[in-house]
Amino acid sequence: MTRLSIGWRLTLWYLAIFALGQFAFGAGMWLVLRHHLVSLVDKNLQDQAADVRSFLAAQKKNADVPKFQEEVAETYAEEHAGEYLAIYASNGGPVYVSDFLRKNSFAPPVSASGSGPPSKDLYEDREVGERHLRFLQSSINTHGLTFLIATGAPMKEVRETLRALQNYLLLLAPLVLMISAIGGHWLSHRALAPVDALTRTARNISGHNLSNRLEKLDTGDELQRLSDTLNDMLDRIEKVFLRITQFTADASHELRTPISLMRTEAEVALRRARDSHAYREALQHILNETERTSVLIEDLLALARADSGSESLKLQPVELGELLRDCVQGWQTHAVRAGHELAFHSDDAGQVWVVADESALRRVLAILLDNAVKYTPPTGHIDVTLEVTLDDRERRAVVSVSDSGIGISAEEQSKVFERFYRVDKSRGRAAGGAGLGLAIARWIVERHGGSITIESAPDNGSKFSVQIPAVPRSVLPAPEGIVQT
Ligand code: ADP
Repeated sequence: MTRLSIGWRLTLWYLAIFALGQFAFGAGMWLVLRHHLVSLVDKNLQDQAADVRSFLAAQKKNADVPKFQEEVAETYAEEHAGEYLAIYASNGGPVYVSDFLRKNSFAPPVSASGSGPPSKDLYEDREVGERHLRFLQSSINTHGLTFLIATGAPMKEVRETLRALQNYLLLLAPLVLMISAIGGHWLSHRALAPVDALTRTARNISGHNLSNRLEKLDTGDELQRLSDTLNDMLDRIEKVFLRITQFTADASHELRTPISLMRTEAEVALRRARDSHAYREALQHILNETERTSVLIEDLLALARADSGSESLKLQPVELGELLRDCVQGWQTHAVRAGHELAFHSDDAGQVWVVADESALRRVLAILLDNAVKYTPPTGHIDVTLEVTLDDRERRAVVSVSDSGIGISAEEQSKVFERFYRVDKSRGRAAGGAGLGLAIARWIVERHGGSITIESAPDNGSKFSVQIPAVPRSVLPAPEGIVQT
């Protein structure tokens, strides 16, 4: 079953609440008017009772019941006010009962038939001779005698007025409800119109036109916040999308070069018969190229895994001094062969512990040392240093790799961490890499809660510093306690 649209649901809610309000208002109005009209009738009855009371009081002293009967009959029978009047003696005997009441066998008030006069005034609605009447029963003490009087008034006008109001409300209700339903639907439609516009635009945005944005609303309400939030989200998606597209294009370009080199090498070798030395040389070139391509593919995979968040680190306590000494030793032969001096310095006599993925840290070191060797002319020197700094009460291990190489200009320094960025694009591929090393190094360092910075000047060497949080040995878990993130 399809759900009703928000517009229709709002209209129905609006209608239901309005109908309920209208009913409460109508019923309230009817009750107030009824109360008011009945009060007027009651006031009239009280005046009539007071009249009778003063009439009885005005009678001669020592008058007996028959005398009273005579006087009342004379006075009230003529007047209209006496049409619904009945007076009884305390023993229940009628003193005066108007013609109308007598003809319609008006039943005397309860207390008039023996159970004593009512202590206070009593109001009662009764139907007598098909007329709706309201009676006031009251007892009167005069000249030592107790009388019980019942005086009535017609309720016809009160009932007619109330019925007229009732009909008016019942007739008006559907009309008002219809108008309110139309108004409610129009209002909700108007309020939700921007949502339809947003939906239409959002539906048309795809990978081909990711730069399109939802209409900017200036309503200052939730809808404006919604469109702004969606536009911000589109900004972020577009950036990621462009990065991925760029990455794919760059990766394809980088992979095409070694493959065409290998192909050319093989084609040239096969073009005519050669001696085994020439074939061996060609195969060696192809092998070198495949090794470089494998490294490139490894790097691309590492970045792709980093982007998808599937690359996990095996965190464990690592002593940096020992790790650096080991790395430097491993690179010694390579550095010397390239004509450089490679040394390790540590200010801290004690151990410097970090919680890290050891192989990832070795990779960062390898990237920095490889660059230092690549971008330093022969007879240069490369230094690896380890220090501990205290920043905002946080101990940080700082590993620096400095060289006396070609350096990097200030404007290039921020770009060298971008993927596929190389300062000197004309350098032979054998001399430089694909421009992925520093991007991988930065990702690894940041995953360890650290940062990587450069100090460099053209022809004056470069210093790459990696900072990661250091931890006191005492708070470290046992070395075998491996943490996965
Ligand atoms: P590559 O594999 O090309 O070395 P990187 O991402 O490691 O890629 O480095 C990006 C660029 O930064 C390099 O192409 C190089 O131009 C520059 N660079 C990196 N390290 C150094 C350094 N120690 N001295 C001078 N330039 C450097």
